[in-house]
Amino acid sequence: MMKDGSVNQDLRPGLCPLLELAARVGRDPLLTQASTGNISMKLEGVLWVKASGKWLADAADDQILIPLDLAGVHASIWQNLDPAECYPNASIETAMHVTLPHPVVLHVHSVNTIAWAIRQDAAAQLATRLEGLRWQWIPYVASGLPLAGEIERVLSIRPDTDVLVLGNHGLVLGGKDCHATAELLTEVERRLAIPARQAHPADYAVLAELAAESHWALPDDDAIHALATDPVSRKILEGGFLYPCQAIFSDASTPELFRAAPAPDPDLADAWKNQYADRPFLIVKGRGVVINRTMTPADTAMLSGLAQVVQRTSPAAALRYLTEAEVAAGSSTVAFRYRELANASH
Ligand SMILES: [Zn+2]
Repeated sequence: MMKDGSVNQDLRPGLCPLLELAARVGRDPLLTQASTGNISMKLEGVLWVKASGKWLADAADDQILIPLDLAGVHASIWQNLDPAECYPNASIETAMHVTLPHPVVLHVHSVNTIAWAIRQDAAAQLATRLEGLRWQWIPYVASGLPLAGEIERVLSIRPDTDVLVLGNHGLVLGGKDCHATAELLTEVERRLAIPARQAHPADYAVLAELAAESHWALPDDDAIHALATDPVSRKILEGGFLYPCQAIFSDASTPELFRAAPAPDPDLADAWKNQYADRPFLIVKGRGVVINRTMTPADTAMLSGLAQVVQRTSPAAALRYLTEAEVAAGSSTVAFRYRELANASH
């Protein structure tokens, strides 16, 4: 074992199925966006867990896993210390991975799962769809030790649980091996699948005009424009933050960024441009989305994921938005992790 409690990386062969699963999950934008999602395996006293900021999609080419001494990680939790803070580069969700007893643990920001998990009636909706599976619902709680504590509590009620749906967050699965975990993922995704609403196409003429000789660009993913062209999606976003990852764009705890700007008035074009010049992206009502050229692949991936979630959210559903306190508590950590690590590593 190394001085900091980590161990040498000499257990590679047993990790191949884990890396294959990580790569497959990471390449699916409906399951993970940017460096979100993580995976782990408990192997001979070592917890192999995705390093913070790494992308699951890079599993085939990059060292995305770090080895941690399993007993040491348990010990840190018993002392009420978050392993993500004790071990440099450990995933922010390390406490969750070690609290679940399964040899393999997979956590994804599945857009289908999130579209259910942001609803006020999520528990009831999920109960019908996940009937027969060993699943439990965990209302929103911050990542790290608070989430690990909740997981411990629900496992004490039903120790055979292997599916957890996290309110305003995502999905966690545990399995005896990678194959079982992958099969469980397929089954849960099949049951929770929601078709995306069709959005009105973007007004590319207006967007091209905005992007001409400016710091604005059009996103590569056309689906992002739904944030602006679909009235239901615009209304959903006006209500507030749906999950903490939205905070990567903003230090403020207000969802102002996600509120659509009115379409530019040709007579007031300069004033309009100045008003929104500082935005990382701009949702132009009824027209489409332009993104600041400084936006990173991680930023764009998060925006794509958000569009996929809201396009799957029913206009009839009452939503459970994050409270200001929840956004403030989660945003600094989330924003830090993305900015410092996600962009550098991809
Ligand atoms: Zn997460």
